[in-house]
Amino acid sequence: MNAADIRARLGVRPVINVSGTMTSLGASIVAPEVVEAVSAILREFVEIDDLQRKASTTIARLCGAEAGFVTASCSSGITLGVAGAMTGADLAAIERLPDTTGLKNEVVILAGHMVSYGAPVEQAIRLAGARVAPVGQATSAHAYQLAGAIGERTAAALYVVSHHTVRHGMPPLAEFAEIAHAQGVPVIVDAASEYDLRGPLAAGADLALYSSHKFLGGPTGGIVAGRRDLVRATFLQNSGIGRGMKVGKEGIAGAIAALEAWERRDHAAVRARETQALNLWRDTLRGRPGVTAAIVPDPTDNPLDRLQVAVEPDLAHITAWDLADRLASASRPVIVRDHEIEHGYFLMDPCNLHPGEESIVATRLVEELDRALASNEIISSSVSDRRARRAASRLAWPD
Ligand SMILES: *Cc1c(COP(=O)(O)O)cnc(C)c1O
Repeated sequence: MNAADIRARLGVRPVINVSGTMTSLGASIVAPEVVEAVSAILREFVEIDDLQRKASTTIARLCGAEAGFVTASCSSGITLGVAGAMTGADLAAIERLPDTTGLKNEVVILAGHMVSYGAPVEQAIRLAGARVAPVGQATSAHAYQLAGAIGERTAAALYVVSHHTVRHGMPPLAEFAEIAHAQGVPVIVDAASEYDLRGPLAAGADLALYSSHKFLGGPTGGIVAGRRDLVRATFLQNSGIGRGMKVGKEGIAGAIAALEAWERRDHAAVRARETQALNLWRDTLRGRPGVTAAIVPDPTDNPLDRLQVAVEPDLAHITAWDLADRLASASRPVIVRDHEIEHGYFLMDPCNLHPGEESIVATRLVEELDRALASNEIISSSVSDRRARRAASRLAWPD
């Protein structure tokens, strides 16, 4: 960390992120041309609806949509999209929400899609005043169950594309959309982390939602794209429940710049840099006792690989979670992707690295594995205690 690093001034730890685009770590590296756009607009006045009109044009072009706009986050896009599906362009109904008296107010969602992305997806539905109608079971959902769950009170059907969802036994989006459309119900797709900006609308979605601050490398924001009338009804929520989910001029100009940068980006060169980092880490770990490293593809087919590092405590003298914790506890904390860690492995994500950080990560892996190997006992804490410790630490904030 150099002296100009703002994190030193703020007194926060200089994290190296090999976890992924996580809100809890500051999402992504905002591209330089996006930083410039954000900084330029911050000093100026602008007619916000006009700026959103420009965003609509850019979003429409990149997503193959009729229209679009920028909101505070993908999560607020879910809430506002559900609200738009309930109220349409009725301004009085928009001001009455979350009171949904007289409106269709149910949203169907596959039970296997009821995930947490840091907050429960179904809460984003309920925030609009809607009722959640789960379809099927955690690990299976059938067409007849979806068709049977849709009734005259159904306002929308929400489909989640994410590595968080159950990955088998679910109808694909195109089939989901066909069933919903057969009963006149619009389909909203949460594609927050998906690189494919056109796929969801092409597969039949009426609204597709993305995060501006994830793979796009924009400032915090959400992108709403889709059918003109539904996008408009969603946009109009800004004079209702959307007020508390406001995006500023910097978020809108930043999202436009991020989309334009995405269009111009040399995606093959980015991928090649990521592959270099993965190869470095895999080669660094090769032959180390009790450590198996393999490059694995992204579970939802984004053009992105990660390194899966499995640790056998008997041979490596440390568990996967203790290794993750030690990597995270140094003066240059390296934060790995640990949501499946009780299975004895973690993942390393190469898409948020600054040049040179991949070598620091390799060095830290070697340091901690050497230290563990030299220890006479196996470093093995309880994974349940670790979860409890993390929960307690959240509840103790700000102490
Ligand atoms: C990150 C994420 C969200 C939330 O996106 P924000 O823009 O951070 O609100 C919603 N759904 C999924 C599947 C996500 O991965």
